[in-house]
Amino acid sequence: MKAVKISRPNFIELVNIPTPELKKTEVLIKVMASGICGTDIHIFHGEYLGDYPVIPGHEFSGVIEAVGSLVTRFKPGDRVAVEPNIACDNCYHCLNNRHNFCLNWSGIGVTRPGGMEQYVAAPEKSVFDIGEIPFEHGALMEPLSCVLHGVERLDPEMASSIAIFGAGPIGILLLQVLKLKGAAEITVIDKNPTRVLFAKELGANEVFTNLDDLKRDDYDAVVDATGVIQVMNRCIDYVRHGGKVLFFGVPPSGKKINIEAFPIFRKGLTILSSYTSLRNSYQALDLLKKNHLSLAGFVSHKLPLDELLYGIELIEGGLDDVKKVVITPNGTG
Ligand SMILES: [Zn+2]
Ligand SMILES: [Zn+2]
Repeated sequence: MKAVKISRPNFIELVNIPTPELKKTEVLIKVMASGICGTDIHIFHGEYLGDYPVIPGHEFSGVIEAVGSLVTRFKPGDRVAVEPNIACDNCYHCLNNRHNFCLNWSGIGVTRPGGMEQYVAAPEKSVFDIGEIPFEHGALMEPLSCVLHGVERLDPEMASSIAIFGAGPIGILLLQVLKLKGAAEITVIDKNPTRVLFAKELGANEVFTNLDDLKRDDYDAVVDATGVIQVMNRCIDYVRHGGKVLFFGVPPSGKKINIEAFPIFRKGLTILSSYTSLRNSYQALDLLKKNHLSLAGFVSHKLPLDELLYGIELIEGGLDDVKKVVITPNGTG
């Protein structure tokens, strides 16, 4: 089968490798849609966890091709998506309901082969039935799960006013989930005018392309969905006294933020982060299956496997029409 391998940072190649062999508790998934995430780009540049070589892709959906002898929930032909973070269920953190910090964690698309190949082996416990939703929406189960976990961490008050920094795919999902959670006013900031217009179409009350236009000390909560250090440095300027800041975007590893300490104290801030998700996949699929999110136009590009690098370049180039870019390792048929 065909796979795209990141052999070492900034080096990507299309390779032919054997189809994975299944353990008794695993299923084999024919990958139909595999989203490119900011994390994949960090992995490409050597700014994330895990070792090389790696076959990236942790946001994907597809069809069950084969099942191991102990698998009970699935059969060939089932349409599924994958929760890529695999916990051991038996360590200190897992036994305390913190599976996302599992001491024996492995990650599909991070430490083991991911969705940027034609067939992926995954443990049955990490696989979820997506019903009849399109594969490209099924591939959103994982990022949406992370967004749900982040919103649970933030726990915003009803009718709060929230600023989201960044209108990429994650910012757009945060916007919609925060509305569902009862936010009264959401302001979205992104330097790309097309992106903020898209956010406006999807329910943002106010949008800006320049942080300097934003009212300081004003928002009940500020959520960073960029992971860009210079943007993270400014989050506390805009949150009101007693408010909350959620650092959601994935920053590059090895970089420091620079925040004046005194205002954190003076404003009595709660500063939060959010790491992956905590079994939020069912919730995510319920929202997707029951059409609680507006996803028209959300996926802007569908590319074949050998154009993964081009897809990364599209996202990094930040051109107007680039939103979510999805790879289709087995074609679009
Ligand atoms: Zn991701
Ligand atoms: Zn564990």
